[in-house]
Amino acid sequence: MKTSLKEITISTKSRIQLIDITGQVEELVRNAGVTNGICLIFSLHSTTAVVINENEKGLLSDIVRKVSEEFPKGAGWSHDRIDDNADAHLASTFIGSSRALPIIGGGLMRGTWQSIFLLELDGPRTRTLIVEVIGE
Ligand code: ZN
Repeated sequence: MKTSLKEITISTKSRIQLIDITGQVEELVRNAGVTNGICLIFSLHSTTAVVINENEKGLLSDIVRKVSEEFPKGAGWSHDRIDDNADAHLASTFIGSSRALPIIGGGLMRGTWQSIFLLELDGPRTRTLIVEVIGE
């Protein structure tokens, strides 16, 4: 069995933003030399998420809008008394900090319209993701 553990560092530009990391993840998978296995993408932050969907401009703005609607800022959250970013923690909690994808034939298996994104929820900040590849 082979394993590879690498970091991706990203500087985000907005408070809520989707950053396409598909190319970087695919490069790490290719370099890991694994033919069949699993790729885990995990964000090391409590106010980000990792999501998979289509990289279409309108959809990306719809996702940002939906996150803002579902997790409104300043809605009387208890955590805002100490840190003023409860909405970001809540969105991260319910959307999730990681995704795992299959590796088949040396590459990431994903649908034509499936891209991988870091979802920034309390930017702009510098963020670190772990990409772990396990397989044979
Ligand atoms: Zn906080």
